[in-house]
Amino acid sequence: MKPNLRKSLFALVLVIVALTTFGLSYTASAQSQIVIEKQFDWIEQGSVGIIKVTGPKLAGGVAVVFDRQYPFFATSQGFASLISVDFRQKINDYPIKVTLYETDGSKIDWEDTIKVTSGGFIAESDFVLPNNKVNLLNPVIQTNEDARILSVFSVVTPERYWDGLFTYPLNGRLGSPFGSVRTFNGGEARRHTGVDLSAAAGTPVYASANGRIVFARPLDIHGNHVIIDHGWGVFSSYSHLSVLYVVPGQMVMQGDVIGLSGTTGRSTGPHLHWEIGVNGNWVDPVKFARVKLPN
Ligand SMILES: [Zn+2]
Repeated sequence: MKPNLRKSLFALVLVIVALTTFGLSYTASAQSQIVIEKQFDWIEQGSVGIIKVTGPKLAGGVAVVFDRQYPFFATSQGFASLISVDFRQKINDYPIKVTLYETDGSKIDWEDTIKVTSGGFIAESDFVLPNNKVNLLNPVIQTNEDARILSVFSVVTPERYWDGLFTYPLNGRLGSPFGSVRTFNGGEARRHTGVDLSAAAGTPVYASANGRIVFARPLDIHGNHVIIDHGWGVFSSYSHLSVLYVVPGQMVMQGDVIGLSGTTGRSTGPHLHWEIGVNGNWVDPVKFARVKLPN
């Protein structure tokens, strides 16, 4: 028997154990003692679901769904993966494949389905930009800026800097919601990648959770923009600021003032635009602030 054939037969035996064990009941088997727990029945568009795995010999793993890889990160009891769903993902059931690795090099595959449900996004009435900001509706500026932000989001820090729940960056009324369909000056429809919190110009803006500043500079659309890397592929960002108080590389704690609110960039008046990115997808900050992580 050729070595590679022997290897694939060995993997097949493990697959059968995993499917019998997890595909039906999610309880541990005597052989592997691995438990996979999907902590959700469905995930809304623009939201996050957690998959937890525990086992004595687990070394890590990855989930693949929506043609995207979601790594598993170490917790005190095992590993967890944050499955973020793009707000444009069609409502459907999607196959997910989880591959787990054990310390002895063995590999366990598990397959299941993820149900994506509606994010309940609304259409908003037209926003009117002043003449001196109309050039910011150029789709090339939008495309380049989106790509730049998503490239920052794509650098994953395996260490988790935060604990507990994310907090709101200021105490403002919730205005334009996440994922809404909106137009500016009667032009083409766009989607809202964050939420807007009302704030008079000059209101202190607080870090939503502990993390490292990875971006702090002006952008055409987001204006003066701060991005915090919280680890585990989770980022929060704060836009249209009048003043920046932080620099890239700096560590911040939840509640630290990172700048003052304003109306820089493509903004029709003073407010805070707050975004959260998880594993390369924008998600609803209001919903993410309720996500409790496994220990
Ligand atoms: Zn906004």
